[in-house]
Amino acid sequence: MSEQKAIATPKRTKEILEKYGFSFKKSLGQNFLIDVNILRNIIHHAGISKEMSAIEIGPGIGALTEQLALAANKVVAFEIDGRLLPILEDTLAPYDHVDIINQDILKADFEQVWQQHFQDQKPVKVVANLPYYITTPILMQLLMANLPIASITVMIQKEVAERMAASENSKEYGSLSIAIQYYTEASVKMIVPKTVFMPQPRVDSAVLHLEKRETPPVHLQDEAFFFQLVQASFQQRRKTLRNNLTRHFKEVLTKPEIEQGFEQIGIDGTRRGESLTMQEFADLANYFYEQTKGNS
Ligand code: SAM
Repeated sequence: MSEQKAIATPKRTKEILEKYGFSFKKSLGQNFLIDVNILRNIIHHAGISKEMSAIEIGPGIGALTEQLALAANKVVAFEIDGRLLPILEDTLAPYDHVDIINQDILKADFEQVWQQHFQDQKPVKVVANLPYYITTPILMQLLMANLPIASITVMIQKEVAERMAASENSKEYGSLSIAIQYYTEASVKMIVPKTVFMPQPRVDSAVLHLEKRETPPVHLQDEAFFFQLVQASFQQRRKTLRNNLTRHFKEVLTKPEIEQGFEQIGIDGTRRGESLTMQEFADLANYFYEQTKGNS
């Protein structure tokens, strides 16, 4: 397919929108990409080839879907907005290895999706220009569902991408960084200007790549307790670990028990959550989990 014919140009996008009288729904995060080079870069960072299949969330009028169709063995795309279905049928007519599912991604039955679409055993990667209003719920759903996906490469709000990929001792580091990095190795691949979208969003964007880990980076006695402790540690960012944890666990752990934990693990209670590595959070969580079990 020649470059002029790509969906992702301002001219072709306008033509398609006009032909169907389509009006953007802000509430669905509809900001379509109009730069084919950005799309090819996303696909490059995702490492898509004919040996693998892709899941897309929110195909819009098919700008990214088309490039994925050219690069991948198969594409399955979830689109919530039924008004886009006839448009996609038209724009993606040349590609019979693309399936559109008219559904809210947050309600998807992935077991059925795999049975129906991915029986060929080829690796599956997620690639999307996400609707920004539900970036975190979508990513957490995909990660927590423990799906057999190799990686996730997504365009999201720059600030959120930086928080997800942040290391300790940076102002972006927080419970979101740990939640994402527990499941994946996260990296920001490129910063993207507002000008490549129609309509232009108010915020800057970035491409985030998440490589799924085969095994968790830390050993945990109890995942839910670990995430609870991490969240509590960042509850008030300027406060010390001692302060945040004493307040959060006051029903289940005494102050001396918390002090003993710091001593046993070798962590200074005057530190702030943002200075702790994931391993240090894991050590604290495993210790306090045993303590709370003993107390209950
Ligand atoms: N992929 C297209 C592109 O890059 O030009 C469109 C991306 S646009 C940022 C986000 C798309 O996600 C829109 O088409 C929107 O209708 C769709 N969407 C929003 N919420 C959704 C949901 N819960 N499930 C599936 N699709 C959704």
